[in-house]
Amino acid sequence: MRSPIDDYLHGLLERCRAQDGGAVADYIPELARVDPELTGICLATIDGHVYEAGDTHVPFTIQSISKPFAYAMALEDAGVAAVEARIDVEPSGDAFNSISLDPASGRPLNPMINAGAITSTSLVSGGAGAGVSGEERLGRIVAGLSRFAGRPLAVDEDVAASESATGHRNRAIGWMLRSRGILDGDPDATLEVYFRQCAVGVDCRDLSLMAATLANGGVHPLTGERALAREHVQQVLSVMTTCGMYDAAGNWMVRVGLPAKSGVGGGILALLPGQLGLAVFSPRLDAWGNSVRGVFACGELSRDLDLHFLRAS
Ligand code: GLN
Repeated sequence: MRSPIDDYLHGLLERCRAQDGGAVADYIPELARVDPELTGICLATIDGHVYEAGDTHVPFTIQSISKPFAYAMALEDAGVAAVEARIDVEPSGDAFNSISLDPASGRPLNPMINAGAITSTSLVSGGAGAGVSGEERLGRIVAGLSRFAGRPLAVDEDVAASESATGHRNRAIGWMLRSRGILDGDPDATLEVYFRQCAVGVDCRDLSLMAATLANGGVHPLTGERALAREHVQQVLSVMTTCGMYDAAGNWMVRVGLPAKSGVGGGILALLPGQLGLAVFSPRLDAWGNSVRGVFACGELSRDLDLHFLRAS
């Protein structure tokens, strides 16, 4: 039986379809092959109800939405002090792929821009890029993301190969990190793990459950498995709140007001702690690399369901 939430989501889906601005990411050639009209919306509550509308089972790559989860794994594996010694928690107001480090400390400003995210990847399983094989690190990341999703996820090798073949800017960032002593070992090895991490395949339902797992203090609402120690949830949600939408983070906070993360594959995930996770998938992106329909849908959901955490009432 369709609930009022299902009806609401289907109505929202129709309103999303009227939003036809933006363009599919084409800087990773394989991403340009997606159908730009695809749109899915999912809402998962922390007690395990999942509501879906539209293309919620179409696979796409997680891309930058992997960043808060890899950061979470780095916090667990390397410890908060070691992670903070290499990655700051300040919003940068820069684009996701900006080549910027804090001039004084040499650290990336936060774990949501690529410089910080590549560093997080290097810290998963410990080691900052040295002492742990790429295979082992990638295995930990895919297993960790799978625990958040509640089902086994896998790398889309075509997208990974496409990103690796064209990832010169990310390589430049990696070598710059190596020159400042933020990465140890061979940066190219860390970059290959990062490219594969970004190419993990998910669908909209997965993302809503990953968000709901964070909303639920680190425990998956359906499997009951703990994906993240409760003590690290606050740190992950804080950087999502201040930095998750890159240089559009301020606008996002005013309009939506939820911790969130977007990816150039067209996914956006957001959550209300203690309540629910949201995910929207639609591949056309705005100038900041955020899904146009995703930003629209999250704004509507926040207003209609009264989710903004700074609401007056
Ligand atoms: N893999 C992409 C990159 O690093 C992820 C970017 C994104 O989703 N914003 O360029």
